[in-house]
Amino acid sequence: MSNTPIPIAVIGAGPAGLMAAEVLSAAGISVHVFDAMPSVGRKFLLAGIGGLNLTHAEPFDVFTTRFGERATACANWLQGFNKEAIRDWAKGLGIDTFVGSSQRIFPTDMKAAPLLRAWLHRLRHPAQGEPVRFHMRHRWNGHITRSETSVTSTWQLQFDTPHGPQSVQTNAVLLALGGGSWARLGSDGAWQPWLRALQVDVAPLVPANCGFEVSVGSRKGWSEHLRTKFAGTPLKSVVLSCTDAQGHTFSRKGEMVITEHGIEGNLVYAASALLRDEIAHTGHGQLHLNLRPDFSAEHVLAEVRYPRGSRSLSSHLKSRLNLQAVHLALLHELLSKDALNDPLQLAHAIQHLPITATGTRPLDEAISSAGGVKLEALDDTLMSRHTPGLFAAGEMLDWEAPTGGYLLSACLASGRHAAKGVLTYLNASIWT
Ligand SMILES: Cc1cc2nc3c(=O)[nH]c(=O)nc-3n(C[C@H](O)[C@H](O)[C@H](O)COP(=O)(O)OP(=O)(O)OC[C@H]3O[C@@H](n4cnc5c(N)ncnc54)[C@H](O)[C@@H]3O)c2cc1C
Repeated sequence: MSNTPIPIAVIGAGPAGLMAAEVLSAAGISVHVFDAMPSVGRKFLLAGIGGLNLTHAEPFDVFTTRFGERATACANWLQGFNKEAIRDWAKGLGIDTFVGSSQRIFPTDMKAAPLLRAWLHRLRHPAQGEPVRFHMRHRWNGHITRSETSVTSTWQLQFDTPHGPQSVQTNAVLLALGGGSWARLGSDGAWQPWLRALQVDVAPLVPANCGFEVSVGSRKGWSEHLRTKFAGTPLKSVVLSCTDAQGHTFSRKGEMVITEHGIEGNLVYAASALLRDEIAHTGHGQLHLNLRPDFSAEHVLAEVRYPRGSRSLSSHLKSRLNLQAVHLALLHELLSKDALNDPLQLAHAIQHLPITATGTRPLDEAISSAGGVKLEALDDTLMSRHTPGLFAAGEMLDWEAPTGGYLLSACLASGRHAAKGVLTYLNASIWT
C-alpha cells in the first residue's frame, strides 16, 4: 500500500466490520477492511450451521431488555437498525426471512453462505459509492501510533502478513475484532492488552451463552456411569430455575444437554449470565430442574406412591411418570439411597432436582463473550473518549445478550452506528 493515508481502516471482517464498511462505502468513502483470516465472516458462517438466527420479532422495548444493564446504550444503536431494518437489508441482498415459532427470525433457507456471498459481492461492486477493498491474512499485531499535526491526525497501524509486517497509515480506525470464543475462527481476544495500553478501559472477556461444569457432593464432575452412558443426551421440556444471592431469578422451560463435564444447551445458555456471575461471587451456582413440569406436585407424589409390586423403581417411574433413562440416571446420581426410597423426597426431587454448577466451560467453547471495551470508554458515536479517531463495534464491546438473534442484531447495529460516527469524525476533521 502507498504511504498516503487511507481514510478509514476497518479491522475485522465479521458482521460488525462488514456492516461498518457498507455504510462508509455507501457514503463514498474509500474503505479498507483488514482481517487476520484468509476469508471473511467465519463465525457468521458457523452461526449459519444453526440456521442463522438474524434477529427476533418481539417488540422493540422487550427486545432491548435482553441486553440487561446495557439496554439503554444498546437501544441507541438498535433503533438505527432494528428487526425490520435487518429484514429489509437481507431482502435487499436477495435473502427472504421468516419468523419462526419462537419469534426468532431466520433466512428462509436458514443458511449464512448465500447471504454472505451476496453481501460481499455488493461490498465489492456497489451500485453507488466506493468499492470496499479487502486485505485478508492481515493480522493487526497491536502496533498503533498516532501522529498529529496542526491540520490533521493520522494513525499508523502494523499488520503481520504472509509477506512480513506491513504498515498502514489511516485517518481513522474502526475495530470490529469480535469477542474471545472460537478463537480458531479469528476472534481470539488478543486485542485486550493492546487497547488497555491505549488507555481504553476493557473488562476481561468471559464466557457468555456457555456450558457449565458440575460437582456432585465432594466429587468434581459426573460419575463415570453418567458420563459414559449419557454425555450428549438431551433433557427435553424441563424447567431450569436458579436464583442468585441478590434475589435475581431465572426460570424457564426448554431443552438442555448432559455433557462430559456438566451441562449445556439453549436452556443453560439462557441461564448462563446469572450462573456465571453467581459462581464468580460465591464459588458455585445452584440450579434446580423440574423433570416433569406439566404435572402438579400432588400428581407426581401420587404416581410415585402408586404400589409398584415387584417392579424396579426405574420401571415404576418410567411407567407412571414416563421418566426416561437419563432422568432416572440423574435421580440416582444426585439423590441418596434413603431419598430414593422415600416417596416424599423422591417426588420432590423429580420436580426440584438440585445441580451444583462450579465453573463455566472455557471461553473458547462459548457461543459468545461478555466483557470487552467498556461503553463508558466510548462516546455516543462509539469513538474512544481518550483517543479520538479510534472506534469500536460488535462483540468486542462490553455488552451481552442471550441467543435469539440478539447477538447478530447488536453486532450489525453497532457496526452501522460506529460507521456513522466515523463519517461525522472524518467530516469534522476535513473542516477543522
Ligand atoms: C456456534 C455459534 C453460533 C452462533 N449463532 C448465532 C446466531 O444464530 N445468531 C446470533 O445472533 N449470533 C450467533 N452467534 C454469535 C455471532 O456469530 C457473533 O456474535 C458475531 O459473529 C460477532 O460479530 P463481530 O463482527 O463482532 O465479530 P466476529 O464475527 O468474531 O468477527 C471478528 C473478526 O475480526 C478478526 N480479527 C480478530 N482479531 C484480529 C486482528 N488482530 N487482526 C485482524 N483481524 C482480526 C477475526 O478474524 C474475525 O473475522 C453464534 C456464535 C457461535 C460461536
